[in-house]
Amino acid sequence: MTSPAGRRDPATPAPTVDPATPGDLVALVDELLAVPGPLPIVAAGDPVLRRPTQPFDGQLDPVRLAAFVSAMRDTMRAAPGVGLAAPQVGVPLRLAVVEDPAPVPPEIGDARGRVPLPFRVLVNPAYEPVGTARAAFFEGCLSVPGWQAVVARYARVRLRALDEHGRAVDEEFAGWPARIVQHETDHLDGTLYLDRAELRSLSSARAMAERWTQPTPTEAAAALGFPLPEGDSA
Ligand code: ZN
Repeated sequence: MTSPAGRRDPATPAPTVDPATPGDLVALVDELLAVPGPLPIVAAGDPVLRRPTQPFDGQLDPVRLAAFVSAMRDTMRAAPGVGLAAPQVGVPLRLAVVEDPAPVPPEIGDARGRVPLPFRVLVNPAYEPVGTARAAFFEGCLSVPGWQAVVARYARVRLRALDEHGRAVDEEFAGWPARIVQHETDHLDGTLYLDRAELRSLSSARAMAERWTQPTPTEAAAALGFPLPEGDSA
């Protein structure tokens, strides 16, 4: 992101799990790591972004996993983005990295619940809502460059995952960090944020810069004609 085991929309057909074998994955990761610098980011239209990923189960040895995570972190920071899922660099593994220094003015940070999220690795993440509140804001995706759209997401989620050392994570997230972990976990189920977006909110980078810099999308909703959740912070 420029963010049950995911909750696929019932109307979306379920593609088959990527057929890559463990050997294919190792070769693929080695090929990526052989080239220094940020990894190439896969854009929408590539099937790897639309297939559920393989749960991580030791397909990469600890040294390879650490090197791959490091490369994903560097790629996310260089983009720059606040999250990156393995399929976004073409690797069909259930693995993502997130980090948000939240460099925004206080009025934006307060309205969006955008607080700093320290770097972390999510292995085999799954989330579920905590409560029914939703928050609607513009978000973007490194795999859909040049566009943003409003997504009404759960305001609070419980995330279960492993960290990069195999330790269990069971934690609640709210505000912008909750948005980021939902966006990245969705990637691992072959879901893009556009699948959940208010499509009438779709805005180019230019429109975002010229028109929709307000802390909330209230004005955009009125001008473009899309709904916002009731009783929501937006
Ligand atoms: Zn994304």
